[in-house]
Amino acid sequence: MVATKTMKEVTQEAWARRPLIISGPCSAETEEQVMKTAVQLQETGKVDIMRAGIWKPRTRPGSFEGIGTKGLAWLQKAREITGIPVAVEVATAKQVEDALHFDVDVLWIGARTTVNPFSVQDVADALRGVEVPVLIKNPINPDLELWIGAVERVAKAGIKQIGLIHRGFSSYGNTEYRNAPMWHLAIEMKRRHPGMLFINDPSHICGRRDILQDVAQTAIDLDFDGLIIESHIDPDKAWSDAKQQITPARLGEMLSAIRWRREDVASDEYHANLEKLRQQINQLDDELMQIIGERMKISEKIGQYKKENNITILQTNRWNAILERAFKKGDKLGLSQEFITKYFDAVHMESINHQNKVMNS
Ligand code: PEP
Ligand code: MN
Repeated sequence: MVATKTMKEVTQEAWARRPLIISGPCSAETEEQVMKTAVQLQETGKVDIMRAGIWKPRTRPGSFEGIGTKGLAWLQKAREITGIPVAVEVATAKQVEDALHFDVDVLWIGARTTVNPFSVQDVADALRGVEVPVLIKNPINPDLELWIGAVERVAKAGIKQIGLIHRGFSSYGNTEYRNAPMWHLAIEMKRRHPGMLFINDPSHICGRRDILQDVAQTAIDLDFDGLIIESHIDPDKAWSDAKQQITPARLGEMLSAIRWRREDVASDEYHANLEKLRQQINQLDDELMQIIGERMKISEKIGQYKKENNITILQTNRWNAILERAFKKGDKLGLSQEFITKYFDAVHMESINHQNKVMNS
C-alpha cells in the first residue's frame, strides 16, 4: 500500500523548502480562473503554495472587494487536483473561522491589518489552539514595532509557525515603486528574528510587471527565504492588481532567470579571502567613525563661536552649498545622490545636535 501524505505533512514540507515560492492570483474571481491558474502553476513545477485573496481590503470602496466564502470551496477543489497547499489572507476572526472551516493550509495577515493592533489581536484570538502556519506582512507604514507587535500577538496565541512577508511601505506621491522597499527595514526585521521564515513580495512592492524580476533578484541577493508573486491566467483582465500580475508561464521563466545564491560555501580559500576583505572594511569603518567624531568636535567649536555671536544653528545657504559640493564629489566616486543625501542628512542632524548642546548649555 502506498502511504499518502496528509495535507498537513505536504504543507510542512512546502514550508521548509528553500527557496519557498508562493504564487496565485491577487483575488479568486471565478471557479474557472482559480482552477486554470492552479493547473498552470502546477505545470511550472516551481510553486510550493498557492495564494488567492478571498476578502480584499481595498483602499477605496467600489473596487472589487473579494468573492467571499464561496471562493474557499474553489481553492479546496484546486488543491485536490494539484496537491498544492493553499494560502488565504485573513483580517477578522470570522474570516479565520471560515478559512479554517475550509481547511486552508496557510493564512496570511495583510499589510492593512498589521497596522491595527485591534485587528491583529482579533485574528490572533481566533487562532488560539489552532495549528496553522501564519505569514505576517509588514504594515503599510514603515514602523517595525507594529510588525514586531503583530508577530508577538500571533506567537502569544500559540502559533508556532510564523513567517514574515516584506511587501514594501506606502509613501506619499509617485515613486518608481507602488510601495517603497526600504530594504534596510527588512534587513533589521530579519536581524531581530533570526531563523524565522522571511519572504519577499515583489508584486506589491513594484505594482507593475516590468521591474518584478529586478526586485525579486535583489531579495534573493539579500538572502530572503523565498518569494510571493501574484499570477493570473489573463493578468490584464484581473479584477484587482491587474498591472502587477503575470501569467504562471511568465512566473516560471522569471524564476528560472533568477540567479539563486547560496548563503555559504565550504571552501577555505573563499573564507580566508572574505575574511581579509572584511578586515579591510572594519578598518575603514573605524577610520570613518574616527573622522566623523573629529568632524563633530569642529561642529562644537562652531557652536561655541555662534553662541558667542548669537547666531542661529541652521544656515540654509551653507547647508545647500555642502550638499552641492558633495553631489559633485560623490558622483566622481560612484556614490549615488540618494546615498549622499541620506548620509549628509544624518551627519548634519548629528552636527546640529552637537551644536545645540554647546549653544544651550
Ligand atoms: C495581497 O496580497 O493581495 C494584498 C492585499 O497585499 P498587501 O496586504 O501587501 O497590500
Ligand atoms: Mn494584490
